[in-house]
Amino acid sequence: MLRTFPSTQIESALAPYLLPASGLAVALGVLAHLSARVDTSPPPLARRRSAAILLALGCGLALWIPGLLWLRAWPLNAVAVAVASASGSSALDSLLFPENSLSNPRPAGEDWRATRVPVAGEVTRETFVLVIGESVRADALRECGAPAAMPRMTSDALVACNVTAGSDATHTSVPLMVSRDLPGLQRRVPADATFLKAFERVGFHTYWLASQDATIAWPDAQTVQAVSAPGLDADVLNAPFDVMLADPHPRRAIVLHTQDAHSPYCDRISQHVAQPFTNACARLGNLPTADTLADWKAVYGNAVSTSMSFLGGVIARLEREPGAVFLIYSPDHGEALLDDHRQIYGHAMRHPTRWDVQVPAIFWANAAWRKAHPEAWRHLKANLTAPLMHADLVPTLLGAAGIRYQDGRRGVFDLTSTEVPAERSRVVQRSLGKTATWDQLVEEAR
Ligand SMILES: [Zn+2]
Repeated sequence: MLRTFPSTQIESALAPYLLPASGLAVALGVLAHLSARVDTSPPPLARRRSAAILLALGCGLALWIPGLLWLRAWPLNAVAVAVASASGSSALDSLLFPENSLSNPRPAGEDWRATRVPVAGEVTRETFVLVIGESVRADALRECGAPAAMPRMTSDALVACNVTAGSDATHTSVPLMVSRDLPGLQRRVPADATFLKAFERVGFHTYWLASQDATIAWPDAQTVQAVSAPGLDADVLNAPFDVMLADPHPRRAIVLHTQDAHSPYCDRISQHVAQPFTNACARLGNLPTADTLADWKAVYGNAVSTSMSFLGGVIARLEREPGAVFLIYSPDHGEALLDDHRQIYGHAMRHPTRWDVQVPAIFWANAAWRKAHPEAWRHLKANLTAPLMHADLVPTLLGAAGIRYQDGRRGVFDLTSTEVPAERSRVVQRSLGKTATWDQLVEEAR
C-alpha cells in the first residue's frame, strides 16, 4: 500500500489503531517491568510462583493469537516477503497476503474462449476504449444532478447515473471491473484473465495505459505502460496515449486507468486552469466539518470537472481516429461527503456506503460505429436509467465489438443488446468474501 497511497491517507487509516496500540504497549511494558522485578525478589518460592504466573500469561497470550498472525507480523513477515519475492512463489503470497495479490495471479493461456461475429461493411480500423476513473460519485456530474456551474459532457455521450461499483476501494474495484467475477470473491485480484485477452484472441492489439500502479489490477495487455509521474492525467497520459494511437494495428483495445478526482484534491488539480467552483483550497483543513463542507464540495467539484475535461479531451482525440470507435468511462468508486448521520468522508472506509458506491458510467461512440450499430446504440440509450452495475460494463464493451465469450455469471447484461430489468438485486463487495446489496446500503444511510 505504501507505494500507491499518499502519507496523509496512510495516517488517517492508521489513526483508529493508535490508542489501542498504545494501550497494548503500556500493558506489555508493565508486564516486562514485573518480569524484571521477579529476579530481584528474595524469597525463592514467591519468585518461582511469580515466574510461573508470568510464563503462563505469556504462553496464554501467544496461543490466543491465531498462528498465521505470527507469520504476518514482524519480523517473520519480512522474511516471508523476501522468500516469496526471491523464489517468485505465489503460493506464499496467497497464503499470507491473500488480500494484496503481491504476485501476478492471472493464468497464462486463458482467453475467455472468445469468438467474433465478422464485421459487416467496410470498417477498416476499430478502437475500443475503457477509461477507468477515480473517486467520482454520480451526482458530481452535471447530467446526474451537480450544480449548474459544472460543465456538461459532450452532447453525443450517453450518461448513466445509477451504477453500482463492485466495491468502494480502488484495489478491489478495478480488478473486479475487468474480470468475470462478481463482488464477494475471496481474492483481491481474480485468478482469471482480464477481458483484454478476449479482444486479443479475436485479433486485437491490447493496451493498458495507467497513471496508477499496474499491480492494482495485474493487467495482461500486450502493451502495458504505467506512468508514475505526479500531475494531472492530461499531463502524464495524453502523450503516451497519442503514441498508442499512432500504432499501425488496425484493431485496438485500450484501457486507460486514471487518477481522476482522487483526494487530496488540491495537491494535483491545477489552480491555474479555469474551475467551475470557488477555489477554496486554502480553507479546507484536514477533514471536512459542517462548517467547511461547502468548501470541500467546491474543491471536489473542481477535481471532478478537471477529470471530465481530461475525458472530453480523450473523446475529442478519438473523434479524429479513422474507422469505428467505442468508449466506456466509469470511475472505480465514488466519494462520501458527510452525507448522512454517520458523517463519513472519503471512500474505502470500514464499510461501503451508498455514497462511495454509486458512480456514473459514460458511453460514447463515433459516427462510424453508431451508423454501423443503430440498434445497439438504441438499446444502450434505453438502458441508461436502469439500475446498472460495474459488472455490466465489460460485457457491454465486448458486445459493442461483437465478441462472444464464455462467462459463468448470471444477472450481468450487455447493455447494447439486452434490456436490463427495473427490478434487479445489485451486489457490492463489503470486504473480501462478503457482500452487501444496494438496498442494504440505502437502508444503512437512512
Ligand atoms: Zn479509487
